[in-house]
Amino acid sequence: EQVPVRAFMSDLTEELGLELEERQVQFLYTDKMEQDLPVSLDRKRMHQALRNIVGNALKYGPEKGLVIKAELSKQGDLACLKLSDNGPGIPADKLPHIFDRFYRIDKERTKDLMSTGLGLAIARELVEAHRGSITACSEEGKGTCFTITLHFAE
Ligand code: ATP
Ligand code: MG
Repeated sequence: EQVPVRAFMSDLTEELGLELEERQVQFLYTDKMEQDLPVSLDRKRMHQALRNIVGNALKYGPEKGLVIKAELSKQGDLACLKLSDNGPGIPADKLPHIFDRFYRIDKERTKDLMSTGLGLAIARELVEAHRGSITACSEEGKGTCFTITLHFAE
């Protein structure tokens, strides 16, 4: 399906709206695209991928004062979406593993029995099924940032 990126982002923020409001999360969205362009994607699948990332920000981030930023930009032939949080961050030696299936950093950190360690593995599969890429960077104590790139529709 060909979806204009701006429409896609406003759908997404709408979908996340209530959850973010309830948690009193500051959600800051910046659109750096000069024009709206279509990307080819499966809305449901891409929403799922982004929900997994935002879900982590909510789960691992601070109870109060969580800020999630989203930035959309054009990088040549690619649409680039950056999602960042001001949560605890991920230690550099753990970062290469976070997309592995069943990988969870500190089983004590979240006493959450619902966590399986699959969220990011699924997110990566979904993004790669779109011929896109997803990478993470993080600084302990500062936060975590995910970058997703997608091809514009022909
Ligand atoms: P699930 O998503 O299946 O409920 P999960 O959240 O533990 O379980 P992933 O979403 O794959 O699994 O994340 C893997 C690990 O990476 C998490 O256990 C967590 O330790 C770490 N992590 C992921 N996102 C963040 C984040 N935004 N801030 C800090 N740590 C994170
Ligand atoms: Mg998760």
